[in-house]
Amino acid sequence: MNEFDYIAWIRQQTALSPGVLIGPGDDCAVLAGTGQPTLVTTDMLLEGSHFRLAETTPERIGRKAMAVNISDIAAMGGTPTFAFVAVGLPRGGAGQIAMELYRGMRDVADRFGVVIAGGDTNSWTGGLAVSVTLLGTPGSHGPILRSGARPGDWLFVTGPLGGSIVGKHFDFMPRVAEARQLQDHAAIHAMIDISDGLAGDVGHLCAESGCGVELFADWIPISDVARSLADERSSLEHALHDGEDFELAFAVSPEDGRRLLALQPIVDVSLCHIGVFLAEPGMFLVGENSRKEIMPCGFIHAF
Ligand SMILES: [Mg+2]
Repeated sequence: MNEFDYIAWIRQQTALSPGVLIGPGDDCAVLAGTGQPTLVTTDMLLEGSHFRLAETTPERIGRKAMAVNISDIAAMGGTPTFAFVAVGLPRGGAGQIAMELYRGMRDVADRFGVVIAGGDTNSWTGGLAVSVTLLGTPGSHGPILRSGARPGDWLFVTGPLGGSIVGKHFDFMPRVAEARQLQDHAAIHAMIDISDGLAGDVGHLCAESGCGVELFADWIPISDVARSLADERSSLEHALHDGEDFELAFAVSPEDGRRLLALQPIVDVSLCHIGVFLAEPGMFLVGENSRKEIMPCGFIHAF
């Protein structure tokens, strides 16, 4: 198989979509456009940095490459629409890898109504690299930014945290529908998806909003997996600092927060109030009889 065979194969898999005037196979895709602002995000996964091909399958990698981008659209409160995929395939067995990768991407794309509208394929002497660029439409109240949290706002998360390395980092479901439902019930001031870890990503909300935050240690939902991990870190530390849970962290007014807690409007999701934004800078972990400053650190690619 060569790249043109692969493109021909992908064209066979691509159903006509009313939003795509010209799909894969020309120099550019042509999208119908909506006249609204467009959300655009890109995320790349690299063998050796994000995964080892020997320890997983190309299908799971494809699934994750698409899902992490969908999660970024969810974090803005939007609906994902069209994806563009660039892959670098390792020489040797690349045809099989390419097709399995595509199946994984298509599986999750189809669930969220995302059309793979174009891309680029190369092979090389390095490992597998896959980069997805995803477009989306904001919700009816516009894009939800990281910068809108205000002192006094309540901080919420959409689910239990920690220990995603055991499997959730591949198998998570992006919170697109949940983000949409939240907007029906509350004015979301700021939101982010938890990719780098709760402390790191809430740190991003604080930095962009010019706030500090108090986190309530006893109210942070800890996943069963994090509780079962018996290592040198406590389950709370796993919940605070492990990455790739892809839950949403968001800020709302106390009034909206109380209503969300009373209504719990999202089926199968327990919304958790885990903190409050402050006018003073810094991140503070508050226990029954303690208050200590913690570093808003999560996973950072250093180079
Ligand atoms: Mg994100």
